[in-house]
Amino acid sequence: MHALLETLVAEARPLTARGKPASYIPALAAADPSLVGLALADGEGRIFEAGEARKRFTIQSVSKAFALAYVLEERGANAVFSRVGMEPTGDPFNSIIRLETSSIRKPFNPMINAGAIVVASLLPGRDVAERAKGLRAFVGRAVGRPDVGFDLAVRESEDATASRNRSIAWFLNELGLLATEVEETLDAYFEQCAMLLDAADLARAGSVLAFDGIAPWSGERILATRTARTVKSLMATCGLYDGSGEFGVEAGVPAKSGVGGGIMAAVKRRYGIGTFGPALDPRGNSIAGLYMLARLSDELDLFAL
Ligand code: GLU
Repeated sequence: MHALLETLVAEARPLTARGKPASYIPALAAADPSLVGLALADGEGRIFEAGEARKRFTIQSVSKAFALAYVLEERGANAVFSRVGMEPTGDPFNSIIRLETSSIRKPFNPMINAGAIVVASLLPGRDVAERAKGLRAFVGRAVGRPDVGFDLAVRESEDATASRNRSIAWFLNELGLLATEVEETLDAYFEQCAMLLDAADLARAGSVLAFDGIAPWSGERILATRTARTVKSLMATCGLYDGSGEFGVEAGVPAKSGVGGGIMAAVKRRYGIGTFGPALDPRGNSIAGLYMLARLSDELDLFAL
């Protein structure tokens, strides 16, 4: 296994020259685009890794899967799905257009920014600090280490340049979909996006999803089976923005990407996989991550369908 992961990292590294780190959040632009990390967590709690699998990065939209799982556990499915749909959009992650044009008058799914901002407004806690801390504690259980932190500079950089997410949040507010005040909601959302994890963490969290909510390394139940299934299904249909369909054809596993360069994948009853590579394609997905997941799927026969 280790040799396979090393080979995939070596194959992926030259491909990173085809993309660039996200720059619409200025602090992300400084990332080294040639970094590539890959980790796989199995059902016995073992981790296999290659490349920069222990380099921490901000998980950005991968946090949408964690926040969804946490809010489903804390508040139940009805609180979430009365305000957010379950359908893919085919639009970019930060698109605002359907909020006005669609008849459902709510974000299509929790994996796009509009849906994730609604979910962030449902995080339990009295204020932003408590909500963000509660989510980090939950993520800590899901990745098997209690000290999950966040990158303050990235959080502030996003806050300072977030005209589009602010527009989305105000629109959501107008539709009556936010459970907390607009700026508070955005603060919690930016802080969740700035959480710092590495590919090995994403692999472990992916393995919790893969085993329907049980942490393979301890046997502890982290999530209800139903929650794990809901999150995986939405990852499979909506997890890679407007590249979700193509990724389904190429790799065929539930996955969630983020513009920090991470992807978390869950392969039913087999593996969690974490990838890292900040060079992104035009849709905002990690070029190295997409490549390595497709190759792993072929090599290990991971296709869910
Ligand atoms: N914080 C980022 C944003 O809202 C996350 C986007 C992403 O990773 O897709 O724009």
